[in-house]
Amino acid sequence: MSDRFIRAIFPGSFDPITNGHLDVIKRAIKLFDELIVAVGRSPIKNPLFTPEERVEMIAELVKDIPRVSVESFDCLTVEYAARKKADVILRGLRSLTDVQYEFQLAMTNRAVSGIDTVFVMTSERYGFTTSTMIREVAALGGDVSKLIPIAIYEKLKLKLANRRLG
Ligand code: ADP
Repeated sequence: MSDRFIRAIFPGSFDPITNGHLDVIKRAIKLFDELIVAVGRSPIKNPLFTPEERVEMIAELVKDIPRVSVESFDCLTVEYAARKKADVILRGLRSLTDVQYEFQLAMTNRAVSGIDTVFVMTSERYGFTTSTMIREVAALGGDVSKLIPIAIYEKLKLKLANRRLG
């Protein structure tokens, strides 16, 4: 047994967090001593939730999972990792389609900073779930309640209703 403390960051957009992300978090915390879920503040295409809302929603979901915390960041992932003194970056894998992009990202991050990326495969139940698809299907009135935590589903319905009114 090693007595080394291993801190990981799990960067992503999480717009919104899905059952797939949560599954990765629950699997990964068995491998690390500390896991920081890191919501990227850099602009993504058509964000639905603000970074503050995403952090708040994730914090509520992980509040009973020991050693997991959540915050947002506004810089390069590798800079953020260095600032947090993270040992590794965690990313989730759904299918082979993810591998090519994630491979390039991981190699680039390692080339520029030396940090390694650890991948955790999600449950096959969530292998097709993407935040983008959830936003799009929900916006068109589809029922995505099986793909995201119920609290997130409620927030999503509210957000879309407010958007339609606004
Ligand atoms: P990004 O925009 O950085 O890809 P995401 O929030 O979409 O951010 O994803 C963050 C991480 O979670 C990525 O590693 C992504 O591959 C992974 N991920 C996304 N959806 C799922 C899912 N359903 N199951 C497991 N991992 C997922």
